[in-house]
Amino acid sequence: MNAPMEGITARALTREIQEWCDKAPSPVTFMEVCGTHTMAIHQAGLKKLFPEKLRLVSGPGCPVCVTEQTFIDEAILMAKRHNATLITFGDLIRVPGSLGSLANYRAAGGDVRVVYSPMDSLSVAANVAPRPAVFLGVGFETTVPTIAITLKAALQNDVSNLYCLCAFKTIHEPLRVLAQRPQLNGFLLPGHVSAIIGTDCYQYLPREFGKPGVVAGFEPLDILLAMRDLVRLAVQESPDIINDYKRVVRPKGNETALAILAEVFDPCDASWRGLGVIPKSGLALKGPYERFDAHAKLPVDVPVSHDDPRCKCAAIITGAMTPNKCGLFGKDCTPDNPVGPCMVSSEGTCAAYYKYGA
Ligand code: SF4
Repeated sequence: MNAPMEGITARALTREIQEWCDKAPSPVTFMEVCGTHTMAIHQAGLKKLFPEKLRLVSGPGCPVCVTEQTFIDEAILMAKRHNATLITFGDLIRVPGSLGSLANYRAAGGDVRVVYSPMDSLSVAANVAPRPAVFLGVGFETTVPTIAITLKAALQNDVSNLYCLCAFKTIHEPLRVLAQRPQLNGFLLPGHVSAIIGTDCYQYLPREFGKPGVVAGFEPLDILLAMRDLVRLAVQESPDIINDYKRVVRPKGNETALAILAEVFDPCDASWRGLGVIPKSGLALKGPYERFDAHAKLPVDVPVSHDDPRCKCAAIITGAMTPNKCGLFGKDCTPDNPVGPCMVSSEGTCAAYYKYGA
């Protein structure tokens, strides 16, 4: 499934990218929306192959990076106030909140369980009952269907002590915000998210904003092919949506996953680091699933907090800055001692720059 296209070479694609860039009247800037692309691009050293006229900036596709620190604060306060067990994916455990990270809380005696599948939450909830177990819900359309399936199972089995603290995000509304920025000429669209939502749904990018988008896989050749197509569309001034990841992504996506998302969640306003509150860019539990809403059922007062002003994650995940321009990068902020989420996450841009170089 991961084998990229046969007969196409990196050398040929790089040459074509150069040729299209030569025809561009001015430099072009694209945004890779997805954190997994950020890592793949740096791991393969692809930026070194791009002409000077081609710039690729990172976007808001790392779910941990776009989640505001009040989410971590709320989780820790909730666990303390309601004697709850927290359940999380590993990526979130070291993200700093204003009260410390989940790892700090666990080291101080807090009950924090790391799971690899949301379904593991059911056994954790059974083990700690009648105490509440709170799954920390962070992720995009790729992750949320598996959480929806878990909640469906919890509903069917009448699990009464499992909750979900929802900070889920969806990709279209932030893309609409970013597409208004004249400095961005197009988007390298996420492969995993598009496997769920498809490609038909991106047509607003060319139609309303005159910007192209290309869905890419994660092998180096996948990304080079998509970059070739992005540059070509931008230079030809013929904005369109191209699917260069056809072996995984279909025009209408995964209709089974979309159906379960629609059954369990409704769109809601969501707060994004770097972008603020964006209407209808999050997912809230609906109907019978509202009983699992940790925010409503296990209330806590969460003090207003602000990110460390020296940390530039907000600028980095909106493509306005690169990590090496942050004064803390590689000095006060490293993967062992992260100041912001972009250095913690396995999909974070700062972590990618630190690990593989700029
Ligand atoms: Fe924040 Fe660290 Fe990245 Fe600077 S290097 S923006 S402090 S995560």
